[in-house]
Amino acid sequence: NRLSIADPIRTNDIMRKYKLRAKKSLGQNFLTNEKVLDDIVDASGLKSDEIAIEIGPGIGALTEKLAQVAEHVYAFEIDESLIPILADTLQYYDNIDVINQDILKVDLDKFVVEHDLQGKTIKVVANLPYYITTPIMLNLIESDYPFQSLVLMMQKEVAERITAQPGHREYGSLTIAVQTQMKARIDRIVGSKSFIPRPKVDSAVAVLERLPKEEIQIEDPAFFNKLVRSSFMQKRKSLMNNLLNWLGRTDENREIIKNVFEKCGIAENARGEQVSIEQFKQMAVEFNKK
Ligand code: SAM
Repeated sequence: NRLSIADPIRTNDIMRKYKLRAKKSLGQNFLTNEKVLDDIVDASGLKSDEIAIEIGPGIGALTEKLAQVAEHVYAFEIDESLIPILADTLQYYDNIDVINQDILKVDLDKFVVEHDLQGKTIKVVANLPYYITTPIMLNLIESDYPFQSLVLMMQKEVAERITAQPGHREYGSLTIAVQTQMKARIDRIVGSKSFIPRPKVDSAVAVLERLPKEEIQIEDPAFFNKLVRSSFMQKRKSLMNNLLNWLGRTDENREIIKNVFEKCGIAENARGEQVSIEQFKQMAVEFNKK
């Protein structure tokens, strides 16, 4: 008859017992809304033969919910002082490993092999530390191991960027980095009241599911990434201008770009945010022919 860790009474008890003060510098905002946690777990669709990787278990609110549905949970926590607390709060579960490591320094591909998890369905589920949302997310997406899905709580603005459609202000190089690999949607918005302490911004639960292999093919990823980054270098400038800045402002380059635009159905005065991912892919192919 224990209260869940996320219950505000239990969270406050744990914090008092360990004289725990949330560290802002590590993005520590503990979830105390069980409905939100249940929604996160539902969105992951985790099953009893699947593996969960959690980033930043904090005091274990999400970790225990994951352990109740998954075969095993591996939770990476950077803050050493939370490790004994987690050993206490999660003592009733025998399918959790807490690992005291900086997730940005973990070689997840190696981790999967070392723990004999190849062939398993692995899902990443996390209430992310907001100060490093983007590098964590991109590492997971670009990892060699094809994580089936990522269910990530993040700052609402970032969730809007990764789920944006062409023509919207939020659409940019981050959108494309994510959507070339994953189908992304917002599951729900979460207000700051759901956390102790309250973050200054609203949050959202984003669900990213890996696209089928055939849809991900990009011939020359390094060139594609350069093209996309250059296209959004100065967001208010036209695509033509951004590309000229990148390739060099010569008449010859202007002709080449015009020609590529024509082949891809892109207007001469278009801005990067109006160009679909398919068109970016096509542009990369056309530039490579030149
Ligand atoms: N999962 C808990 C919850 O939902 O209540 C805590 C989430 S809190 C927003 C983010 C957690 O990530 C904190 O516990 C923080 O210490 C941890 N963290 C911050 N930077 C990290 C890093 N580089 N690697 C692993 N964990 C990190």
